Amino acid sequence: MENSIKRIGVFTSGGDAPGMNACIRAVVRTAIYEGKKVSGILHGYQGMIDKNIIAMDSRSVSNILQLGGTILKTARCLDFRTTEGRLKAYNNIKEEGIDALVAIGGDGTFTGAEVFSREFDIPVVGIPGTIDNDLYGSDFTLGYDTANNTVIDAIDKIRDTAASHDRLFFIEVMGRDSGCIALNCGIAGGAEAILLPEKETGIDELIQKLESAAKDKKSSTIVIVAEGDKNGGAYNVAKRVQEKFDFYDAKVTILGHLQRGGSPSSFDRVLASRLGFAAVKNLLRGQTRIMVGLRGNDIVTTSLEEALRSKEFKLAEDMIEMTNVLAI
Ligand code: ATP
Repeated sequence: MENSIKRIGVFTSGGDAPGMNACIRAVVRTAIYEGKKVSGILHGYQGMIDKNIIAMDSRSVSNILQLGGTILKTARCLDFRTTEGRLKAYNNIKEEGIDALVAIGGDGTFTGAEVFSREFDIPVVGIPGTIDNDLYGSDFTLGYDTANNTVIDAIDKIRDTAASHDRLFFIEVMGRDSGCIALNCGIAGGAEAILLPEKETGIDELIQKLESAAKDKKSSTIVIVAEGDKNGGAYNVAKRVQEKFDFYDAKVTILGHLQRGGSPSSFDRVLASRLGFAAVKNLLRGQTRIMVGLRGNDIVTTSLEEALRSKEFKLAEDMIEMTNVLAI
């Protein structure tokens, strides 16, 4: 198998995440070191369908290790969900001589990669690149650590102004289905309450917490709201709370897309490098339809099928319980 792969195609797909560039660099350089050729597919699956593909060498990835975003661009591509779209993609990559793929992205990207690999018998290794940290089979996904640091920095700044004015702040963070960022940053930022998609918190329950914070003479109160919280986001939560509770002057901040950007943390740079290196090594060992991930301090592999069982991903219960204890 090792010698049958001549050219590896690498692409980023779905939402961008800090560390993707460091990962592209590792894939390109490991493949070249192993005597393989590398093509960069631009705009994810869309680039396969449009034949937007470039040859890459060691110098094409110079000076990108520290950059946020992705030099290969990314996209969400509807055509790839159709058989005709995937056939076109396959014909294009074959014409380019690409005979194996490294896919950097989230669960949608892996779903596409799994289907494509089975349909056309093309080897694929996935790398978890999403700030959501919602893939089974890796303790951390690329970009999650950097996004957390960005959010904590923002919470600290908001805390300064909240404390100066005795204010209540609702801060909305990313996570439509996953409360990882909300929970982690809520704890790291000392939030008084955290609303998660995985766990319903009623408005009355939240008000009780706020009343008790007020009674305990807290000079500022911060509620972290994951965007996928069942109450409908920070603006809705703030409105409903204020209808019943007017002790504090309440403000809302939606952190939005700034959570995706920025230079990757040292953790994400090292993780990206290890995963990129491992992805190529595994492809050349004949592995396919797997995701490389981090468990403890080890690089491990999980079948894409298993990695996609992200819905079963569970937040640590002790962290949820601890939030209430530490906020008194
Ligand atoms: P993030 O977690 O950051 O959103 P993602 O990889 O999950 O990243 P998606 O937009 O869900 O992002 O998926 C990326 C692309 O994968 C889609 O735009 C589509 O081209 C492809 N894809 C997703 N699901 C399928 C599917 N069922 N069949 C074929 N292709 C798919």
